[in-house]
Amino acid sequence: MRSKRSKIAHQHQNLVFLIIITFFLVGILCWRTYSYFKQVEVNVAQIQLRQGPGIEYHAKSQLKRGDRLTVLREKYRWYYVRTANNKFGWVASWNLNPQGPQTVSKLSDATIVLDPGHGGSDSGALSANDKMEKTYTLKLAKKVAAQLRQKGAKVYLTRTSDKFVSLAARPALANEVHANAFISFHFDSSPQQNSASGVTTYYYHHQLSYSLAHAINQQFNNLSLKNRGIDFGNFEVIRDNDYPAVLLEMGYINSDHDFAEIKSNQYLAEVANDVVKGLNTYFTASSSTN
Ligand SMILES: [Zn+2]
Repeated sequence: MRSKRSKIAHQHQNLVFLIIITFFLVGILCWRTYSYFKQVEVNVAQIQLRQGPGIEYHAKSQLKRGDRLTVLREKYRWYYVRTANNKFGWVASWNLNPQGPQTVSKLSDATIVLDPGHGGSDSGALSANDKMEKTYTLKLAKKVAAQLRQKGAKVYLTRTSDKFVSLAARPALANEVHANAFISFHFDSSPQQNSASGVTTYYYHHQLSYSLAHAINQQFNNLSLKNRGIDFGNFEVIRDNDYPAVLLEMGYINSDHDFAEIKSNQYLAEVANDVVKGLNTYFTASSSTN
């Protein structure tokens, strides 16, 4: 029979054992948590901690170079992080060390800038009865934007209404948001009315943009207008772009034959479908090169 004293000593031993085990488990848990979540450091003078994954979200506070962050999840090349003083928010992963992913492998992770050509005082080319190119570029870009958003992609438009936007501001937006793709929409015009027809896909930086041009252009083979193919085009909006960029001329607005298509919602919807299909192929098939 145990004495009362040895019973107390035994209970004491159990308690010590329990405390040691608890410390051990908590230690492992902390270490696992720390090593499970990626640690990054701010690599630029100053960045914003935002309420959502994009430049359009409100900034909650500022972070400075050297601030350490724990990455909790990611979306669209943005990180949801915890700061050292327990603030939570989103930061652009390209401002961090180590940098976030450079590429995306599916459309729903992509950031896409759509550029409806012309706008405001710049009407673009005219049809035989003076209908303006700027009207149809915006209609088309809005159709593409709606489809892309439905598929989960992040979409920015260089304009959403009939307003003037400088040429320089268009690629600047793509550069600011580190777009995975930039698409400028236009309708062609030939020196003489009714002298040309068809659609053309332009790129400027071959290595950066040709595969995007190819993926999109391939989809245009079944359109009601002839596919004139892919060509090099020296246009500022794709030339000053640091990201994969194409400019699409989706028919000749001063051709009566082409304009009959351009003004129809059905044609614009077909083009929008093709562009989205092309982007989808581009991101899934060429995830190593985009
Ligand atoms: Zn144009």
